[in-house]
Amino acid sequence: MSPTPPCIFCAIVKGDVPAYKVRETERALAFLDIHPISWGHTLVVPKAHAADLPEVTPEDWKEVAELARWVALRLRKVLEVEGNNLIVASGKAAEQSVSHLHIHVIPRREGDEVGLQDWWVSKIQPTDPEELSRTATVLREKA
Ligand SMILES: [Zn+2]
Repeated sequence: MSPTPPCIFCAIVKGDVPAYKVRETERALAFLDIHPISWGHTLVVPKAHAADLPEVTPEDWKEVAELARWVALRLRKVLEVEGNNLIVASGKAAEQSVSHLHIHVIPRREGDEVGLQDWWVSKIQPTDPEELSRTATVLREKA
């Protein structure tokens, strides 16, 4: 399925737009983010266009996830990376910036001050156990 307007990540997959490719598999491509949050920040995308999680096929998602893991381990091996954040923004409400599903593989090093923890902690809210139970039930059972 071709997106309208043209999709920058599809153009990278086709080779119409240059990218710093890291690894390619049958269904997935990994390339460096040109605006890295830390050294080695890589994006992993399905080669077939899928806007977000509802659109991606299970086969493509599996390969994208496996490639993201490969990238994470590779970063640890060759760039002195000590940890990784894997982040997916799926949908406008989740602040997805490019409408072609992608996993950010963010290299982390002790003391790198990337600051995701501060962002995370600032958003944590106290929650009623009954609300948690109700939510889990809805997620498990609602058609
Ligand atoms: Zn695309």
